[in-house]
This record gives sequence, C-alpha cells and structure tokens, in this order.
Amino acid sequence: MILPIVAYGDPVLRKVAKDIGTDYPKLNELLENMWDTMYNAHGVGLAAPQVGLPIRVFVVDTTPFSDDEDLTEAEQKALNGFKKVFINAKIEEETGKEWEFNEGCLSIPDIREDVKRKPEITISYVDEHFKPHKETYDGLLARVIQHEYDHIEGVLFTDKLSSLKKRLLKSRLEKISKGKIDVDYRMRFPNVKKGR
Ligand SMILES: [Zn+2]
Repeated sequence: MILPIVAYGDPVLRKVAKDIGTDYPKLNELLENMWDTMYNAHGVGLAAPQVGLPIRVFVVDTTPFSDDEDLTEAEQKALNGFKKVFINAKIEEETGKEWEFNEGCLSIPDIREDVKRKPEITISYVDEHFKPHKETYDGLLARVIQHEYDHIEGVLFTDKLSSLKKRLLKSRLEKISKGKIDVDYRMRFPNVKKGR
C-alpha cells in the first residue's frame, strides 16, 4: 500500500527516532508499504519518519543510480540490486575528505542542492530478520545511506547547506509545508488542514 509521504515542516521529521524491538507490530507490512511508497515516488531510499513514524527504520534500493554512465563499471555493479532494510542503525564511523553530490528528498520535492559528506562510513544495524550486521560503504552507496540515516536522526539535507543557501530556500520550503507544490505522489502536508 502506498502511504502518504510527510512533507517538510512536519515535526516527525525533526525527531530523533527510537529503536524498535522484535515485537514491533506488523513490521513486515510496514516494510512492504515503505517499498511500495518509495518505488511509487521513484526514490532510492525512504525512512520511517517520512511516513510519519519516529522509529529507526529505513530502506534503500540504489538500482536506479546504477545506469549512470559517469560511474565506473565496478560502481554500477555495486549499486545495481543493492536493496536493503536498515533497522536500529548506528553510523560508527565516517571518514575521508568531504565531497559534494546533488541531493534531493521525497519530503522536499523539487529542491536539489549539492551537499558535502564524508565518502566512507561504517554502519551497524539489524536487518528485517533482526540479524546484526556491521558494514563499510563508500561512494554513492554511503551517500544514500547517510541521507536516510540523517532522517532517523531528525536531520534533513537542507540543514547541511550554507546559511546563504538556507535563506534563499526559505520561502520555497514554506510553500512545500503548505502544500503549494505540484507533486506526482501522495503527500501529507503539515500546514494545510487536509492532505491530498
Ligand atoms: Zn530524504
């Protein structure tokens, strides 16, 4: 089932999300709905706060990035079919020299900006079967995971921009929170009485 994606301005996007236990009700159904919602909106990642739940769950499928011809064959291969569920994730380490990449966010439609992040991360998490993992990623894989991880920490990519850029974006972000935007997927806007 496709869920409405929570738009910029909703307080749920600002909460530090909580870990969940194996007893979390209907987790499989939630994950299925998150996949449906992400694919419907042509995203490469979606975090639970973006569907209104302040829990440490996010999903990633970087396959759409894999046909980018600027990437090496090895990079394309790493991205193709990389489909994972991250539960109770914690980034243990971020290393290397920051690099810029043009990011967007399903909660902030039509805004894309270059964001600086470190290139390599080590992350521990449990998967959908609550099996623990500790893995190291770099490049675009790390980038997508860092973006989704920020969501469960209550951080948005626009927070990472210069104060000048933030000032320039302020009115567009307010419009988004009021639902004054054309978007081709279901959304829930904090500053209008009814979603659409
Ligand atoms: Zn996002």
